[in-house]
Amino acid sequence: MAELDDIPQHVSTGTLPGWDAVENLVREAHAYARETGDGDIATYIPRLAQVDPELFGVSVAEVDGAVHAAGDAEVLFSIQSISKAFVYALVCEELGHEVVRERIGVDNTGLPFNSVIAIELADGHPGNPMVNAGAIATTALVPAASADERWARIQAGLSAFAGRRLELDGEVYTSEADTNQRNRAIGTLLQAYGRIEADPLGAVDAYTRQCSLLVTATDLAVMGATLADGGVNPVTGERVVAADVARDTLAVLAAAGLYERSGEWLFEIGLPGKSGVAGGIMTVSPGKAGIGVFAPRLDGAGNSVRGRLATRYLARALGLDIFASEAREHGPYPYSREKPS
Ligand code: GLN
Repeated sequence: MAELDDIPQHVSTGTLPGWDAVENLVREAHAYARETGDGDIATYIPRLAQVDPELFGVSVAEVDGAVHAAGDAEVLFSIQSISKAFVYALVCEELGHEVVRERIGVDNTGLPFNSVIAIELADGHPGNPMVNAGAIATTALVPAASADERWARIQAGLSAFAGRRLELDGEVYTSEADTNQRNRAIGTLLQAYGRIEADPLGAVDAYTRQCSLLVTATDLAVMGATLADGGVNPVTGERVVAADVARDTLAVLAAAGLYERSGEWLFEIGLPGKSGVAGGIMTVSPGKAGIGVFAPRLDGAGNSVRGRLATRYLARALGLDIFASEAREHGPYPYSREKPS
């Protein structure tokens, strides 16, 4: 595999390179990351253990609606934890970000996604909406008069981000619902701490359903592009959430999108992202593009190994890293800026 220094590096310019360049770099990122076979597929949800570990797709959706894809970018897989980002956005859109910030929080827990200790250490505070506790508490906030209405709103909301109707994978849902004792314990614990008002198991069920929605790498790219485009889906033109909600969602992802590896991800990739245990990762370059990747083999924190490498390649080669800069050309140093006349 090429060294990091061998990946062409560009610095953020405000726009992506031209269409052909993006198309080529998406293919190169796919070829680059395909070289590794590291990582293990998730098996704690029995249905996920049946996936072909070699599947690998990469997709970039630009904020002008152009889509570039390589490999298995149209293969369906369950969105899993990536759904947390969008349900958070939908709840902020309905209730305002201050309510969610106060009740759920926006700080990294530094602990795994399904940690119970994190809840106990914080006196019952869920921490942030990207770990299971915060996500279940966020799903419980979706305004609805019944469980069916809550699910319909979540499904419709995530579908609007993707620009097409997303369907539930019944087998993944049943498989997780049969084995999610830990998430049910988290829901009940949050109720004991007064963080979920009613029906915690109903909230866990809706959360399990949202995780079982089927997407492709291209869907994730378009969903990310909607967050990159101030909340407007660049393919359908529909405004899904307000611009400040899209902004707040990205800020939370930067802090907590990759669980206890969030700091490492931000250091390496320089962009907000969100991963899921089926092997998807969605990454957002504000004002420019969404990146969607799918490869089922995961690292120890549950993040796709090939997905991380392909995203790192693209962040660098497309000039997306928000922390990279170049010194501007200007007159001799020491330079004093004069007031424009
Ligand atoms: N549905 C999964 C769970 O709650 C999602 C986890 C994940 O993608 N990290 O365990």
